[in-house]
Amino acid sequence: MIEINRISELKDYLKSEKKKGKTVGFVPTMGFLHEGHLKLVEKAKEGTDITVMSIFVNPLQFGEGEDFEDYPRDHDRDKRLAEAHGVDVLFYPHISEMYPGPMSATLTVHEGTEVLCGASRPGHFDGVATVVMKLFQAVNPDYAYFGMKDAQQVAVIKRMVSDYHMDVRVVPVDIVREEDGLAKSSRNVNLTESEREEAPQIYKTLKEAVTKALSGEFQFSHELESWTRSKLEKRISGKIDYVSVYRFPELTTLSRLEGDVILAVAVFYSGARLIDNQTWRQGEMEGEN
Ligand code: AMP
Repeated sequence: MIEINRISELKDYLKSEKKKGKTVGFVPTMGFLHEGHLKLVEKAKEGTDITVMSIFVNPLQFGEGEDFEDYPRDHDRDKRLAEAHGVDVLFYPHISEMYPGPMSATLTVHEGTEVLCGASRPGHFDGVATVVMKLFQAVNPDYAYFGMKDAQQVAVIKRMVSDYHMDVRVVPVDIVREEDGLAKSSRNVNLTESEREEAPQIYKTLKEAVTKALSGEFQFSHELESWTRSKLEKRISGKIDYVSVYRFPELTTLSRLEGDVILAVAVFYSGARLIDNQTWRQGEMEGEN
């Protein structure tokens, strides 16, 4: 594995590899790697010749009072893990490399951001889209791998790629979980012991909700939302940010529960805000007979 810190060096290296006919798979991350990130690497390695991982904690996507400063970072550990899992190029830019001065033009995301994390974190997806666009320019990947844990991010990036006629294929990857069901996240280390203990209830509740939905217990999405919210309120002490059901990936409202659905949850704990979701296809006939 080689580590590159400069955009010009990264571009030169990948250009010469592409000239040899190699395909490039890209895994953008903010580091403090866990098996969720490494699953994206595995998929990139299966699908492409060269796997590029970026590690960059992007200040643009953090709002005021959010955890930019407290976001966990560990360069040496990340480097070891990336290398051990077969990353070919680790792009690890300094903030001054990514943002040498104020940006003269940034992206604003208009669609799919009035809901879920877009509603709770104003400007978050503008920061995400802007940095992903910058990284795509630097890497020029054939495929880019994103985790479904951040399902709204997948939807936003897919739309952006289509809007800008970009040649990259966005590949969504399933959520990787701890043994007790909690979705893996770099932020899990910022939970207190008791928060960590109860946090698997989020997934447990989501799973039960989907099972009920598939067995036809809810006709309308608001029924699914209310059931999930009231169960969660009983099971966890964290403050619920949202429990929402939308059409996925459009992220438009859904009255009758049918078609491609996302049930998504965000919960505030003392040191971390956790998100999780389930996506599934709700057939019209399910639950009947
Ligand atoms: P982050 O470092 O949190 O910005 O995440 C980098 C990428 O890893 C994003 O595409 C995330 O969706 C993905 N990711 C994070 N956690 C998981 C997980 N538990 N399972 C699958 N993908 C994940």
